[in-house]
Amino acid sequence: MRPIDLRSDTVTRPTPAMYRAMAEAELGDDVLGDDPTVHRLQELAAEMTGKEAGLFLPSGSMSNQAAIATWIGDGETLLADEDSHCLFYEGGAPATVARAMVRSVPAENGVIDPYKLQQRILVQSEHTPATTLLVVENTHNRGGGSVTPVPTMAAIRSEATRLGLNIHLDGARVFNASAALGVSVGQITEHVDSVNFCLSKGLCAPVGSMLCGPSEFIREARYWRKRLGGGMRQAGILAACGIVALQEMTDRLAEDHVKAQRLAAAVRGASGVKVNDPQSNIVVLQVEAPATDWIEALAGHGVRCLPFGAQSVRLVTHHDVDSASIDAACAALDAVASRHGPRL
Ligand SMILES: *Cc1c(COP(=O)(O)O)cnc(C)c1O
Repeated sequence: MRPIDLRSDTVTRPTPAMYRAMAEAELGDDVLGDDPTVHRLQELAAEMTGKEAGLFLPSGSMSNQAAIATWIGDGETLLADEDSHCLFYEGGAPATVARAMVRSVPAENGVIDPYKLQQRILVQSEHTPATTLLVVENTHNRGGGSVTPVPTMAAIRSEATRLGLNIHLDGARVFNASAALGVSVGQITEHVDSVNFCLSKGLCAPVGSMLCGPSEFIREARYWRKRLGGGMRQAGILAACGIVALQEMTDRLAEDHVKAQRLAAAVRGASGVKVNDPQSNIVVLQVEAPATDWIEALAGHGVRCLPFGAQSVRLVTHHDVDSASIDAACAALDAVASRHGPRL
């Protein structure tokens, strides 16, 4: 039996429509600015996020770092919550690429409290560095796919403006946030200065992320992309998949959220494990036994997932796990939780 792969939504494969789009894509050298398919994708992404311009990059991490480096001056301070992807998972790039100072902001499950921003601000003086950027993550990966609602985004925006901060939204899964909130992506991104999102996660494209923002910002981010080695030549072959992702793959994301709720329900109430109430496509188990014991036991039932800490396991739902696979994964979770209890 083929394993049920819940390690990440990044494991999704291109759809048949994407293979057709790749075969038919009009190409050019995008480093020279000549690839019409990349241009179409960038325009579409900018339009959907309500920004002036867009930029296609090889990864979400590169798009975050290009954004941070563009907004931040040497030694200036960026605020983000301590569990954010840009601080936790990007190899210390804010320090090495943007040469930024980093300060954390209080957040609950990754949702930032707008009224606690002011206390974290350093105002430039002879002694203290300026604070110029806030990074918000929606949905929030380590927050278990938590969603920051639109009114909170608006409150963060007005506090940030008052405090002189630009906002970059790490929206790797902002289309999941849009599906969870029942609003358009533009209704979320109108409250930020720049946003990135991944085409390569729940939207099923093989490679790539978009960064969108003001034209001037995107011009400079393009320079950072070059510096980071992220200029790609006939990138239209990938951008073609990105266009299909944006046109055909966003409306179905709510299905993945229902799948996550089904997985969570399969272990809720079992002893030795606590589960989040998934707001999007990420399920997090807090387990009494070592996370590795759970992962091995689930693998024995054909279910793959990843550790999220010593006693924490993450499962991510996506397009390539169908309803029958979710049933099987629920049965596996139930078997592991009830057969083994707190001690595996
Ligand atoms: C996946 C992810 C990224 C980075 O994407 P890569 O393409 O893997 O570099 C950035 N932010 C968040 C919140 C993510 O989940």
